[in-house]
Amino acid sequence: MHARLVTDAAPRPTPEPFSIHRPGMLEAARAEIGLQPHALRTLRNAMYKHGVPPRDALALLPPRAATSILEHVALHTLDEVQRRNSSSDGATKLGLRTRTGLILETVVLRIRSGRSAVCVSAQVGCAARCEFCATGQMAIVRNLAAEEIVEQVAVAGQILRAEGRRLRNVVFMGMGEPMHNRAAVEEAVALLIDPAWFALSPQHVLISTVGIVDELRRFVARFPHINLALSLHAARPEVRARLMPHLRQPSLHDLRVALREIQEVRRRPMMIEYLLLDGINDSDDDRDALIEYCRDLDVHLNLIPYNPIANAPWLRPSPAARGEAFAAALKAAGFTVTTRFSLGTDIAAACGQLVPSSVGV
Ligand code: SAH
Repeated sequence: MHARLVTDAAPRPTPEPFSIHRPGMLEAARAEIGLQPHALRTLRNAMYKHGVPPRDALALLPPRAATSILEHVALHTLDEVQRRNSSSDGATKLGLRTRTGLILETVVLRIRSGRSAVCVSAQVGCAARCEFCATGQMAIVRNLAAEEIVEQVAVAGQILRAEGRRLRNVVFMGMGEPMHNRAAVEEAVALLIDPAWFALSPQHVLISTVGIVDELRRFVARFPHINLALSLHAARPEVRARLMPHLRQPSLHDLRVALREIQEVRRRPMMIEYLLLDGINDSDDDRDALIEYCRDLDVHLNLIPYNPIANAPWLRPSPAARGEAFAAALKAAGFTVTTRFSLGTDIAAACGQLVPSSVGV
């Protein structure tokens, strides 16, 4: 099946074998390090719950244990190579470099005073290659390892803590398709909601996917309480095929069958993401098809204004009035509808704009 091929085609990550973010790593070396269980708890609470940078967290331990940890594990798997703050809103885009020299992007979102989120990448590049997405245009480079995903969250937590804020939400809406890298995403999600690690509420973790249904079924079986968003963007097959030409499977029909099964397992609403593109998926027919498609699904519709990207000059955002009418019609049909407000457009940090060539290194 196509989804399988794509997954296999993504080069395997080259994980940092001694990352401090690997579960069991510190436990395995505990006797040698002389690290007491309560000291390990102190260290993890500081790093993952309170956004303390690893070196400062080590300073909370007895000096011998701290020195010994430095000999056994690597504190970082990513190096920050760029930080850009939006001048118009609360977004900060980070360029992070992997051990092998690849750059990925992570976006810190300050939504309201004290309430903050991080948008993390699951891959460098993306095999889904949607027409409207800058990350897709670079195709897939490689999957990220779990510790590389976890570190993006840890770094965001550190930045926010330094401002007196707290990281509340993690959204997998950065570079890559999370369900093409399910194993690493699952490892990372497990740590995000683990009370001994980040201790985030599952309701504050959101995975957005193009709908790789076999992988999604497996993910939902393990994590039924994690929030899900599906990038639908069109409910007419020919329109979806045009916007997402590399996603040959599943068909819209099979996707819907899978969504209903998934709904049975989760028993909570799923977000349906729908990009509004002028003259492409915003007609009355598109709207009616969307209403029909979602009629028996437990969904919340999230309309996304298109953020223009380079190399796709034929795509334009729907005029605001069209978007408002679209939203009003969906509401009138009984759906919960929200329109996304993307932060970070001025620093190319908004949805679909992440591509590391914008990092000047
Ligand atoms: N691979 C995941 C995460 C992608 S980013 C997925 O496809 O769901 C999160 C959302 O931003 C997706 O719904 C994606 O389709 C959307 N997006 C991509 N390019 C965009 C653009 N140029 N403008 C606005 N939203 C975009």
